[in-house]
Amino acid sequence: MGCKRVVILGSTGSIGINTLKVIDRFPGKFQIVGLTAYNNVQLLEKQINKYKPPFVAVRPERMEDLKQRINTRVTKILNVEKELEKVVTLKSVDIVVIAMRGSEALAPFLIALRAGKMVAPANKEALVMAGDIIMRESHRYKAPIIPIDSEQSAIFQCLEGNKHHELKKIHLTASGGALLDVPQERFDRLSIKQILRHPRWSMGQKITVDSATLMNKGFEVIEAKWLFDLDVQDIQVVIHPEAIIHSMVEFVDGSIIAQMGVTDMCLPIQYALTYPQRLGSGLKSLDFFQIKQLTFRKPDFDKFPCLSLAIYAARRGGTLPCVLNAADEEAVGAFLQKRISFTEIYKIVEGIVMKHTIGKNPDLEEILDADRWAREKTREVMDQ
Ligand code: MG
Repeated sequence: MGCKRVVILGSTGSIGINTLKVIDRFPGKFQIVGLTAYNNVQLLEKQINKYKPPFVAVRPERMEDLKQRINTRVTKILNVEKELEKVVTLKSVDIVVIAMRGSEALAPFLIALRAGKMVAPANKEALVMAGDIIMRESHRYKAPIIPIDSEQSAIFQCLEGNKHHELKKIHLTASGGALLDVPQERFDRLSIKQILRHPRWSMGQKITVDSATLMNKGFEVIEAKWLFDLDVQDIQVVIHPEAIIHSMVEFVDGSIIAQMGVTDMCLPIQYALTYPQRLGSGLKSLDFFQIKQLTFRKPDFDKFPCLSLAIYAARRGGTLPCVLNAADEEAVGAFLQKRISFTEIYKIVEGIVMKHTIGKNPDLEEILDADRWAREKTREVMDQ
């Protein structure tokens, strides 16, 4: 593998940090061309000193501060809100890792695709909001998408070398989140800290709450539908608490291929970075004698209604998944600020989803309108 030139959008978050960790393992194989961050200028400064990227982007109010701390002859500082385009479209860029969370990832995602770049998204909001447009642009500009989300990476890997028309269904696995074995009546008595204690994965706060409600799995159903061109009814969610199988693909003949591995985001990140090759990872092999058994359960839709709501939104399509995503982002934000209870997340999001008049085959503008509408409505409801 030659040297790949990488841009990481959101280099100071959990996926960004792990991406750099993977890159550290392969001296000479990757070069960092651009890094972006929103808030954590201290960590970004360290990353700049270590990787000496020609470009970084931060929020405008942080630019001056950062300018004092780094060598601006080596690294040019850009405004993350306005100049991301400059970084992702650089001729020298081979792969854009979208490690930032939230709907802000949609614009740079599309820009990178239109520039024909390989995009490795860990972010799911963009695909949930505008999966149709993203896949269209990916095909049109021949810009491949290699997912980092562990389940999507698993499906991608299982499909490699197989024919799409021979695919029967996907078994999308879910660890079940922090509340799998907690009785529903106790949900609102748990502290935020308890809800943020994910049994298997260490991730950002928003996605950990989404894992507890299973909304995250619902988002992944929507993501998989777009990434792999599937009907929603062909995606089966399977609770698999050990989180060893990261998803499975069933073919028309009944054969099922599963992707397994240690529960470490570095694995799917490395696969995306080195694709189509595989390189030694230094990660431990799975020890099946220690694991002993793998278990599976049906998801409890009554206990985790966010999952049914997301599947409903996936089926209805149009602007609805975008509304679901926006309302959830607002509601989870309010929950993390202790403004609403855990079970209110569902009630609020469901209310907004049911109120929305779906726009069919939306263009980008309609999607952004729906996003704004949902956020405003959600805030309104929460302020009452
Ligand atoms: Mg996932």
